[in-house]
Amino acid sequence: HLSPRLDCVLHFVPKVECLADIGSDHAHLPCRAVQIGRADSAIAGEVRPGPLYQSTLNVTKQGLRDRIDVRLGDGLDVLREQGEASAIVIAGMGGELIADILERGKNKIGKKTVLILQPNSREPRVRRWLVYNGWTISDEAIVNEGHHVYEVIQASQGSKPRLLSEPELMMGPVLSSKQDPLFIKKWKNRERRLSSILTALRNTGQSEEVLKKIEANQKELQWIR
Ligand code: SAM
Repeated sequence: HLSPRLDCVLHFVPKVECLADIGSDHAHLPCRAVQIGRADSAIAGEVRPGPLYQSTLNVTKQGLRDRIDVRLGDGLDVLREQGEASAIVIAGMGGELIADILERGKNKIGKKTVLILQPNSREPRVRRWLVYNGWTISDEAIVNEGHHVYEVIQASQGSKPRLLSEPELMMGPVLSSKQDPLFIKKWKNRERRLSSILTALRNTGQSEEVLKKIEANQKELQWIR
């Protein structure tokens, strides 16, 4: 069975012929997707030989070698042609790395491909890339696992993309309107944290650097509120 985080990612994978999971590590997600019939076949991409070996072992153990292709390579390089995968998952990495993988692999993403992205950090970076490149965020979810709160973003192309405001880039356009209790909790915590940082900063003097930090924190606090 999948962890709550990966289960939430899988929930956003539409029924497809071919799913690609980039940075697959253990290949748990593509195995499950194929087992429940969400994907007819899958590609598990991995850049490091260690995890790639783990993926291969797992796929073999589950008897899925004829349906899951484990490929060694950087990001979307593992895809052979544009649109080979009609859903692409990139999960469990920093937002900067996810945006970088998308940018470098743009030409491999088909017009009808659905992206399911789960950054571990810097979610706004991912949303910004999507919006700048003509994608529409179609759904989002927030999920708790251990002591961490994760966000999952689903995006597609086709409909006219809507420009997002800074608060929407930060908190997510769909998450902002869903107002999940976990979402409220996350941003209430952040609000509290920012307030106490601001108090501390105001007590540390007036260097240009401090003033800049105060301004940035105030802006974020305002967006949250
Ligand atoms: N996707 C899985 C999940 O969400 O549970 C595994 C996440 S694991 C923390 C991140 C994986 O991404 C690692 O196995 C790492 O080797 C791989 N990775 C990092 N950069 C990559 C890249 N440029 N291309 C492919 N895989 C990459």
